[in-house]
Amino acid sequence: MNAKNLSDRLKIVASFVEQDTILADIGSDHAYLPCYLVHQSIISKAIAGEVVKGPFESAVKQVKSEGLEKQIEVRFGDGLQVIEDEDQVGTVTIAGMGGPLIASILEAGKHKLTNVHTLILQPNIHAKAIREWAIREGWNIDQETILEEHSKIYEVIVLKKGNMVLNEQELLLGPILMQSCTSVFQKKWSVEMKEWERILTQLKNIPPSPEVLQKVEEIENKISLVKELL
Ligand code: SAM
Repeated sequence: MNAKNLSDRLKIVASFVEQDTILADIGSDHAYLPCYLVHQSIISKAIAGEVVKGPFESAVKQVKSEGLEKQIEVRFGDGLQVIEDEDQVGTVTIAGMGGPLIASILEAGKHKLTNVHTLILQPNIHAKAIREWAIREGWNIDQETILEEHSKIYEVIVLKKGNMVLNEQELLLGPILMQSCTSVFQKKWSVEMKEWERILTQLKNIPPSPEVLQKVEEIENKISLVKELL
């Protein structure tokens, strides 16, 4: 993968970026996503944020080698802290992390989101944490998609400002993903269910403590939510 030849996962994230928005890509690593978007003439200004020195240096190097220093500013910092009001960022992308980490980055930096209209989030796991955060903070799911690449399944969630109400099943599975119920979606949840059933068997073979019983209840609840749909 490089900035001209993105992974399918990042191409899908890129496909949700609106023309001419000012972008902040948080956890940008090599800054492939903002570089690609500038090359495609979708955006002309971006911030690439990184909190780890190695990836930060890779991003600086990549942006320089592509000659995009005027369009993309690489900033070192934790989460949304790299965004300033005067940047006029309209869209934030956060990709390639777990849902709880993405939600914690959004929560810690939510005061930086007053002028942001679109969040494009690609959790590798536990997307539910993002949907829970969105409900609490007044964001609405505008689009959702799911894809498989190199035997891994990824979800992409696009949030816009607005209120929404989701039931337990929608929180876990994604309201739009449930509607489309694609073969990749079915595969993801069949695999998850097998794993939950394996854990349940193990839990039922150990002495029942309150924690174990609570875990069993949680897993049985998730299995029934998925079975209602598949
Ligand atoms: N976004 C790229 C992608 O999707 O291919 C890179 C994903 S990489 C697995 C995750 C990156 O997020 C790492 O480079 C890591 O240093 C960075 N990261 C993790 N927590 C962060 C935070 N709080 N603020 C900024 N960057 C963070």
